[in-house]
Order: sequence, then structure tokens, then C-alpha cells
Amino acid sequence: MSDIRIQDDLYEAVNGDWLKTAVIPEDRPMTGGFSILDEEVEKLLINDFNLLANGQKNTNIKEMTYAVELYKKVLDTKRRNEEGITPLLKDLAVIQSIQSIEDLNSLSLDFLLKDVPLPFQAGVEPDMGDATKNSFVILGPSLILPDTTYYDGCNEAGIELLNVYKDMASKALAYTNLAKEDQEKYLEDTIKFDSLIAKCVKSQLEWADYVKNYNPTPLEEVIESLKPFDFMGMLKKEYKDEFPKTIVVYDPRAIKEFNTYFNLDNLNLYVHWAYVKYLLKSAFTLSEELAEISTIFRKALMGIDASPKLEKQAFMAVSRVYSEPIGVYYGREYFGEEAKKDIVSLVKKIIEMYKVRMKNNTFLAEETKIEAIKKLSTIEIKMGYPEYIHELYSKMELTRDLSYYDSMVKVSILKSIDNLNKLNKKVDRTEWAMPGHMVNACYNPSANDITFPAAILQKPFYSIHQTISENLGGIGAVIGHEISHAFDNNGAQFDENGNIKNWWKESDYKAFQKLTKDMIQQFDGIPFLSGKVNGELVVSENIADNGGMAVTLAIMHEIPNSDFKLYFENWAKVWCMKAKEQYTLYLLTNDVHSPAKLRANIQPRNFIEWYQAFDVKESDSMYIEPKKRIVIW
Ligand SMILES: [Zn+2]
Repeated sequence: MSDIRIQDDLYEAVNGDWLKTAVIPEDRPMTGGFSILDEEVEKLLINDFNLLANGQKNTNIKEMTYAVELYKKVLDTKRRNEEGITPLLKDLAVIQSIQSIEDLNSLSLDFLLKDVPLPFQAGVEPDMGDATKNSFVILGPSLILPDTTYYDGCNEAGIELLNVYKDMASKALAYTNLAKEDQEKYLEDTIKFDSLIAKCVKSQLEWADYVKNYNPTPLEEVIESLKPFDFMGMLKKEYKDEFPKTIVVYDPRAIKEFNTYFNLDNLNLYVHWAYVKYLLKSAFTLSEELAEISTIFRKALMGIDASPKLEKQAFMAVSRVYSEPIGVYYGREYFGEEAKKDIVSLVKKIIEMYKVRMKNNTFLAEETKIEAIKKLSTIEIKMGYPEYIHELYSKMELTRDLSYYDSMVKVSILKSIDNLNKLNKKVDRTEWAMPGHMVNACYNPSANDITFPAAILQKPFYSIHQTISENLGGIGAVIGHEISHAFDNNGAQFDENGNIKNWWKESDYKAFQKLTKDMIQQFDGIPFLSGKVNGELVVSENIADNGGMAVTLAIMHEIPNSDFKLYFENWAKVWCMKAKEQYTLYLLTNDVHSPAKLRANIQPRNFIEWYQAFDVKESDSMYIEPKKRIVIW
């Protein structure tokens, strides 16, 4: 342990020695608890992919063999370099050929399927008002910079990043068959179109409020807003007479003000923007030179030093495309049934304790408690990896003749068709929000389910060989965190079936909102590097951390030989993180989680167990007055 006193800085005391020596891998923006596990899973699976590709290992998962085929295509740099930009040129020519709105209207469904940027984004998602059915949703186009706040003319990071983007784009454009002056024009128009969009779309802070995404709107209204774009024509082509009558608009201003960035006078801006965006988005599938160019912006944004090695690029590509089969493969190979049983029983124990705490809650009336307990009783647990692989992946076989680029187009079309076909079907509750090999966990308010992929169920989060106190400070707190999302500022507005519904007694909801405000204030404005925390952006995650800690500490009191010191030490350990400054600043504006160090150090101060475990006194830095301590759930 370092010489910093735990009572003054839990995070530094526990992680200080590690922080001194930890090295951030050159192709990553950070390292630490989650990230180290992720690096290990990646290494393991890259090794497996190499063995599978060389025939030194076999798998009976058919879809894995398709993934191996794609893996080989990425590694085949001889072919990729020989083909250069050629595989992409035919599709760039199609974008370039658009001269009128009629041209675009006749291509729109193709673009939607191939993922060529349209002046809006659209797809099918579970309906937030009725979670059994799917809805057609629409939102504005994505921006070049990570958030609208970067577009304020005085934002230095924004200006700098846009220059990096221009540099990357002009390098890639030099590979196209556009004349030099056209390359410049295309880029200039791209930046112009992007700046118009930035005035209409939501900021990250606005996106953090889920329920505001749910704006069911009559189809006619959307059609009218999008004119001269023929929205109805696109829907009819896909759905014939079974087109949706109501569209869920996630980002109402972007659709209402659609004409300010997309209109007949601006058509060229759109075409040039779509060309450049599609070129850059596809470049990683082309020659090594183009793939390298396509990483410039991300590296600058996150402070990453070097592009990933070829094998890793291949793994990242297959991991995105065949996420579910790879997760199932990983789970079957490396995740034991014993661990699964052990953790499922821990989840159940935590849910039961949550119910007890709800029953004993002092700010809720009986009728609200009944609803909250109903919600807890119906949470579905997805543990490890799914039992079967969805049919979509069985269609994703790639023949040898397809280039890497054409393979990606093929899977993109298959995935889009699969997504659009969901519209008139019931929501498939067997789909997992995360694949088995992902080091993460989540709660989905629309399904009222929690997902714990096999990859997070390892040390330091969990081990059969760790003490129960350590497991509770690690995976236990994560489990409690995910359950608490059912009752954070967003989750609280959904019922046990995943529908937006107010199940609260009015005065109870007001009391909850007051506590939410307290939590915003506890974090708001805390300086971090050259920035500061936006309490409102991170409130849902902080409520979840607070709830996760409360429920696991309650369990700690019930188990024999519990060691609260070990609990808090492992809690701090899982949040160890060393990151590039650019990345930390990027997270501060864009991530709904507080900086890891603050997650480690702020929540414990809300709990009496922290003061008791380490005899924390008023004179210690990690002390706050009892009346400032917040325990919500
Ligand atoms: Zn969370």
C-alpha cells in the first residue's frame, strides 16, 4: 500500500502503487479494472482466432467459422493493398450520381440498408410505451464531433478536433477519383452541412434523459417535416401496406427543423457530406494505408498513441459483426457452470435484500412500495451468455470471393433487414444487450432485465477464491448498481413490464426527485483535470452506485466474518484507472459515468460503514458531515 492514508484518499491508498507503474497500452486510451480484463479477454480470443484460422483448433459453432472467415479477410493485406480503394468506388459513384431529390428518393432504402448516411437515422426498436411491440424510430444524423457543445465557436477542443478531422478526410479523399478542387469542395461542404446539423440535434446531456426520447408522432407529421425527402416512399418500398402509422421521434427538434439543414438548395451539401462520411466510415476495410488514415481522428480524440496491430484490428472487426456467436463461444469455452450458479444466487440474494430495504424505506408510502417490490420481483437475470444464437447470424456466411469491404456491406444489409423486419413482430425478449465476451454489465429499463456477460465475472470483480466481502465490494456492488438503475431518475419512470408509466404516489416521486437533486449537487462542479463534473449528466449512474453500495453493505451485516475493510478496498480496486488526459476530458463531457476515481472516493462517504471500518474522523479528507450524506435506496 502507498503512504497515503486510506482515510484521506481511498482510491490513491489502494491503487497508488499500481498507478505508479501501470502502463497504458499504446493502442488504448486507458488501462485499469475493466480495461485490464478487456485486454486479457482480447488476447485470449485473438489467440483462439489464430488457432481457428490455421486449423489448429476447431469449433462446432457454425457462426464462429463465418467469423473466422472474416478474420482471415482482414489479415489478407496482400489482397487488400492490391485492391486499394477499388471495392468502395462503385458505391461512392452512386452517392456522387445524386443530382436531384428524385435521385436520392429512389436510393434512400438502399442507403438505409447499406448504412450510407441519410439526412436522418432510423430503425426499429422496442416501443418505450408498450414494451411488447416494436416501433419505427427516427432521429437526427450523427455529428463529426462527439457532442453539440464542441460546436460553440469558442470551444478550443472542438476547433482542434475539426482540424484533425479535415486532415484525415483530405488524406482519404486523395485516394478517390475526385479532382483536387472537388476534393476540397466536398470537404468544405461536409463541414458546412455538419455545422448546420449541430444546431438541431440533441446534446449528450439531453440524450441522458431517456424518457424524453419517447415522442410517438403521427406518420403524416413526420412525412411533412421531412419533405422534400420522400419518407413515405421509403417506408412503402420496405413495408408495402404494413408501414408504421406512428413514428417514434427520439430527437424532435432535429426532425422539426429538418429543413434548416436539408432542403433543395442544400442537396449538394448533403451529397458531399454523405460521400465523405461514407468514405471515412468504410476506409478501415480497404488498404492498410486507408485503414491507418481512418484512425487519425479517434486517436486524437482519445489521446491514443498507435493504431491497433493487424490481428487486433481483425478481432475488433469480427467482434462487432459476430458479437453474439463470439460471446457464446467465449462463454462455452471459458465460463464455468459453478461460477454461474454462484453468481445467480448472489443476484437473487441482492434482489431479496433490495425488497427488504424497500419495505423498510422511510420516504415511500405503502402503495408505492408495493409497485417497487413488484418491479424487483420481475427483474429478469441474464447471466454469462445466451443459450442460443439468433438466426440472423446463420445467414452471415461470407464467400471467399467477397472483398473485406463487400463482406461488411453484406452483413450491414443483413443486419438492417433483420432490424426493419422486427417492426410488425413482438419484441424478442431473448436478445441480449451485451455479448458474453464483453467486460461490462447493464440494466435495460425497456425490458426490466439485467445482463452480466461472462467476461466481467472474473477477478477483481468476482472469484470463487476471493472472500465474500471482496466479491460484494466488486461484482456485488456492480449487481446492486444494475438493479438500482430500475430506480434511477430514468428507470423510475418505467414499470415492471418496461413501459413508461407513472407508478408513484405524487408526494413520493417528489421526495425522490429531491434526493436526485441532492445527488446532482454532491458531484456537480467537482474539478477534474482541466474540466469539471456535470452533476446532471452523471446523476443516473451515481444513483445506481449509491444504491449498489447500500444494498451490498446491508448484506455485509448479515454474513458471518464479513470484513468491511476488504469490501471498501476491493470497491476502490475495481475503479483503478489510468487514462490519457484527452480521454479523461472526453469522458467528462460525453460519459454518463463520473470519473472512476470519484466513483471510488465519493460514494463510501455516504455510508456509516465507511466511517466505522477505517475509523474515519472529521479531520480526515474522506469525511463528510452526517447531514450531507445521501442514501437513496
Ligand atoms: Zn450503470
